[in-house]
Amino acid sequence: MFDEIELGREFFEGLTAIDEAILATAGSGVCRFCGGPLHRGDYARKPRGGLIGAAAEAFTRRFSLCCGREGCRRRATPPSVRFLGRRVYVGAIVIVASVVAFAKTIASAAARATGVPARTTRRWLRWWRGPFVTTPVFVEICGRLVPAVERRSLPASLLERLGASTSIQVRRLLGWLAPISTTTSDADGARFVRGLV
Ligand SMILES: [Zn+2]
Repeated sequence: MFDEIELGREFFEGLTAIDEAILATAGSGVCRFCGGPLHRGDYARKPRGGLIGAAAEAFTRRFSLCCGREGCRRRATPPSVRFLGRRVYVGAIVIVASVVAFAKTIASAAARATGVPARTTRRWLRWWRGPFVTTPVFVEICGRLVPAVERRSLPASLLERLGASTSIQVRRLLGWLAPISTTTSDADGARFVRGLV
């Protein structure tokens, strides 16, 4: 699985379009602290895509919003299907490189295939099987997928349930993960993404 995968420019442009739509929906709301107007307030990112997603390194802006009211000015960063929290690697690479690392018995072979160091994918695999399964996102996924997803082989076990081609599977999983892509933990972040992915 995924031996030949390379996520190209078109795939990542599709994700950018989804993030723009999420931003537009979020920006039509108001500040959740004071009810003030939300203004565009992107910030710079310098993401990595490894060997399989080099095109993602063009993502140099994390779309974001700021409250426009004097004295508040708080940031409201909407969910994203491109960035997964503060991780340097983009979300698609966190998914695909984890699957490759899990599938390959020799860690150096996985690292050669994806361009992501083995210690990094080991950390991600611990996250998928540990903190991730306690998130509301995973609880919701479990409620929808019957029979249950095999936890030991996450995220591969989840991907194979989400569609026919790798790019569709990865995009759908990014849509699921989007609510945990922002540290401002907007509890209902999922509603911005619904219907877009
Ligand atoms: Zn405000």
